[in-house]
Amino acid sequence: MAQAESRAYWKCKTCNFTIYASVPPDTCPVCRNQCKFKDITCYLPECGGPAYIDPRLK
Ligand SMILES: [Zn+2]
Repeated sequence: MAQAESRAYWKCKTCNFTIYASVPPDTCPVCRNQCKFKDITCYLPECGGPAYIDPRLK
């Protein structure tokens, strides 16, 4: 079975819109800004692994 595509949680710095995708969109679909999406994925076992959002970054 193939490994699932590695995806991450991305949060728009402007409006806090969060999307789960392999790469963040160029333009935020909510605030329509070319905002910098921040990777808020959990990479530690403490918050559940990469299927979850790191609560410290949210
Ligand atoms: Zn936004």
